[in-house]
Amino acid sequence: MRKTLLVLIGVAGSCFAQASHAVILHAAHMLDVETGRTVSPGEVLLEGDKILAAGASVPHPVGAEIVDLGSRTLLPGLIDAHVHLFLHPGAEDLQTVQESVPARTIRAVLAARDDLMGGFTAERDMGTEGAGSADTAVRDSINQGLIPGPRLRISGNAVDILGGHEDAIGFNPEQRVLSNADVANTADDLVRVIREQFKEGSDFVKIYETGHDSLEAGEFTTPYQYTLEQLRAAVQEAARVGKKVAVHATGEPGTGYAAEAGVASVDHAYQLSDPTMAVMKQKGIFAVPTFAVSEYFADHAATPEEQKHLREELAWHAGQFRRELEAGVPMAMGSDVGPFPHGTQAREFVLMVKYGMAPLAAIQAGTLNGAKLLGWAGEIGKLEAGYFADVIAVDGDPLADITALQKVSFVMKGGVVYKR
Ligand SMILES: [Zn+2]
Repeated sequence: MRKTLLVLIGVAGSCFAQASHAVILHAAHMLDVETGRTVSPGEVLLEGDKILAAGASVPHPVGAEIVDLGSRTLLPGLIDAHVHLFLHPGAEDLQTVQESVPARTIRAVLAARDDLMGGFTAERDMGTEGAGSADTAVRDSINQGLIPGPRLRISGNAVDILGGHEDAIGFNPEQRVLSNADVANTADDLVRVIREQFKEGSDFVKIYETGHDSLEAGEFTTPYQYTLEQLRAAVQEAARVGKKVAVHATGEPGTGYAAEAGVASVDHAYQLSDPTMAVMKQKGIFAVPTFAVSEYFADHAATPEEQKHLREELAWHAGQFRRELEAGVPMAMGSDVGPFPHGTQAREFVLMVKYGMAPLAAIQAGTLNGAKLLGWAGEIGKLEAGYFADVIAVDGDPLADITALQKVSFVMKGGVVYKR
């Protein structure tokens, strides 16, 4: 696919082209995200879309092009396990009503570019929220080299119950405002909806398992949406064709049902009971905390009272996160970007560290763990021979200052330089 590809798309004044010869990236440092060791200098030898060698020094074949990245630190491309390419700030709830799917798709194309420029070379899109399977075209166009963007795992619409978390509630019933999600009320419905989504191109299933949440005086409650048996039916149907289910879920019993059913990730993930955390640890089910979106909503609250409440919620969520870390729940980085500007979501790493994670563990959540969750373990998330040449460079040492990840100054995906 990429063998003879010469992509020439003007973005931010640059052109993209994959070299047809060996390339060596050379920088002052390279972080091994598995061991946490920084080697100096750092070099990556690549040809086509794959890494041939990486380390303090690599073979320099005759005719190889050397890209000198000076004092920077090389890292594998970042992986965001929770994005919404079809959302943009300020329009979330009424997008289905106010914006056409073609208009939203154009914005999604720009969002994909912005995320890539922010250093995210792979992402899991957790629902188009009313744009149906339009994400299939975005993913495929990226894969065909027509537009710049991360490698994508996509879900089409999320799945929700009638009158559930993501349904269009509170509108004039005669206007028949559509849900942002595909509706499924029973196990049979779930199987039918999942088959339809797979037919239209989705890679995995996003299910709303809980909501709306309520936190009053430290007391958290949220209704579950699907029973354990129903979630099992969904997981089984996805597994039948080698695919996975991810849930939006907080609180009990919803997160417990999801963990028991064997979902791939529990997104947002607050108020997990001890048994649920134990099951997640044992089965390797990732929690995806999504702090960045909560912080953005708190910062942009409509009233001081709302701001106070949202800040309290965020602080409470941070406490929940520390419980999960102590319990050994596996973590993947996911920002829920879309309601806040695309390309800025490395803020999530900063918040994960602020709320108690070691910088290396946060980086692993957004590289190695993301690769596992997205089904690309052994292919991305690390700079090693045989992996895709998804490489970024930052100024400074991200282990000493995690905000370095917010200033990505070089982006390569599959051997193509997108930002330099
Ligand atoms: Zn989301």
